Amino acid sequence: MRCQSSLPFQERNKTAEAAKMANTEKRLRILIAGAGIAGLATAISLTRISEIANLDIQLYEQAAELREIGASIALSPNGLRTLEKLGIDEALGDELGFRGPSGIPQIYRHWKTNQVVSVDTFGNVPDRRHQTARFHRGHIHAALAKHVPKEWIHLNKKISRAESNDDGVALHFEDGSSAYGDILIGADGIRSQVRASFYPDYKLRFSGKVFMRSTFDASLVEGKIPDLPADAAHWWGTNDSFFSSRLGKGQYTVVGAYDDGRSAEELERSVTWDQVGNVQFLREKYKDWHPVIKALTELTPHARLYPNYAGESLQTWVPASRVTLVGDAAHTHGGAFAAGGSLALDDSRALGLAFKHVFAAGGSSFSPENIQQALKLYDQTRRPHTARLLSIVHGLMNRKAPTFATPEEEDEALRSRMRSRPDLLWLSEHDVEKAFQQVVAESEQRNLDTQGTTRATQPYQKAESVVASSALGSKL
Ligand SMILES: Cc1cc2nc3c(=O)[nH]c(=O)nc-3n(C[C@H](O)[C@H](O)[C@H](O)COP(=O)(O)OP(=O)(O)OC[C@H]3O[C@@H](n4cnc5c(N)ncnc54)[C@H](O)[C@@H]3O)c2cc1C
Repeated sequence: MRCQSSLPFQERNKTAEAAKMANTEKRLRILIAGAGIAGLATAISLTRISEIANLDIQLYEQAAELREIGASIALSPNGLRTLEKLGIDEALGDELGFRGPSGIPQIYRHWKTNQVVSVDTFGNVPDRRHQTARFHRGHIHAALAKHVPKEWIHLNKKISRAESNDDGVALHFEDGSSAYGDILIGADGIRSQVRASFYPDYKLRFSGKVFMRSTFDASLVEGKIPDLPADAAHWWGTNDSFFSSRLGKGQYTVVGAYDDGRSAEELERSVTWDQVGNVQFLREKYKDWHPVIKALTELTPHARLYPNYAGESLQTWVPASRVTLVGDAAHTHGGAFAAGGSLALDDSRALGLAFKHVFAAGGSSFSPENIQQALKLYDQTRRPHTARLLSIVHGLMNRKAPTFATPEEEDEALRSRMRSRPDLLWLSEHDVEKAFQQVVAESEQRNLDTQGTTRATQPYQKAESVVASSALGSKL
């Protein structure tokens, strides 16, 4: 489906309706808003996981080119297993992603002493390729982009608005053009215009934290800092934290996460996401931390700023009968627990599974009812899972910072917090396919129950309808 600026939405729908009447075997036109990790993975999943042949997928991306942008991104076992299912095998090896020599997914160190206070452990990840790996976001993005035909991706297409009715969907762009299709998938990130079109009152809230991130050649720090951990390390202070890790392809990352202190309004006015930051500020902020961290900031050549926002869980991810959301557009958890990349991949897989279940496996037509059934199965698989994460995120954001009588008391409280972190295995090792099968089983059980109830409570109507259909049969 190409962009069409000349056809108004209503007329376009009439054309679509006529085509639908004429050809029940028509291709299903899917518009994907945004070609980030979620958008690309969704395009791949809808072709490979769903196994539906006649899909016409078009992605609309605001950027002028798909290039290596961003800093570090972690993928946990759930995301890596999904990458494998999507067929992105080149991302599973040790070239693109970094796994530490200890085999421990995350190590938490004390800000001042560098002492290891706590560690995460894997639950059940026997295959090393599925163990948590750290990437430059651009490398994962590029690996996905290689699996999406270039002609499907329309660049320089900044979405201003989306709309939908019973017959179709439309995306409208800032350049005045529009695109029309049968299904719309909003994959346009945390500030999604698709979400805003259907939830105009939805608000994001500043978490109070700003992430200052940098990615650079590992040779700038490795071999130059005594005691630099070979594994990824997460140092916790009372309010702020610092993260460092090698990444794949010889890259290295540092991330300072600090309480900004400014009000949400002030921050909104003065800091934009991905803005170039002042690395001198990073050095100043962490100058009293352990010498390893101090040295890392001194050797960090540049940095960018990422103010962290989060929003509430949506009531539905199917805000209109032909529209859904994936990735950060659907679950606005911000940078919490480095879960965004893996969640986006699992969203895409769940949507592919839902399409396969309704259209490919069942051989059903692309009717409005079937479209809605597929989108609802997807929603029921993913929304409760991410709602659980969002409730943790908001709990942390609402937490009042305690006050302490002495530095020793404060330090003890920090160590205790580090040791009693929430267990997040349900998130990092989530089995999205199992969750999907469970939703399908529950939905089938509900249908059986409803049929049973109908039979039990409405025997008369049931008998009538049997009579009606047999009367019709005798006329044929
Ligand atoms: C440029 C960039 C850099 C990032 N860097 C990091 C990082 O270093 N570390 C990290 O952990 N996470 C980073 N993220 C976020 C991370 O990629 C996501 O949390 C996660 O991968 C889920 O991806 P997503 O596709 O849902 O959202 P995103 O990755 O945000 O992708 C959304 C896509 O939609 C496009 N888009 C947005 N609005 C519009 C519009 N109006 N019209 C058309 N297209 C639109 C964006 O350009 C982007 O390509 C970055 C995101 C972006 C966009």
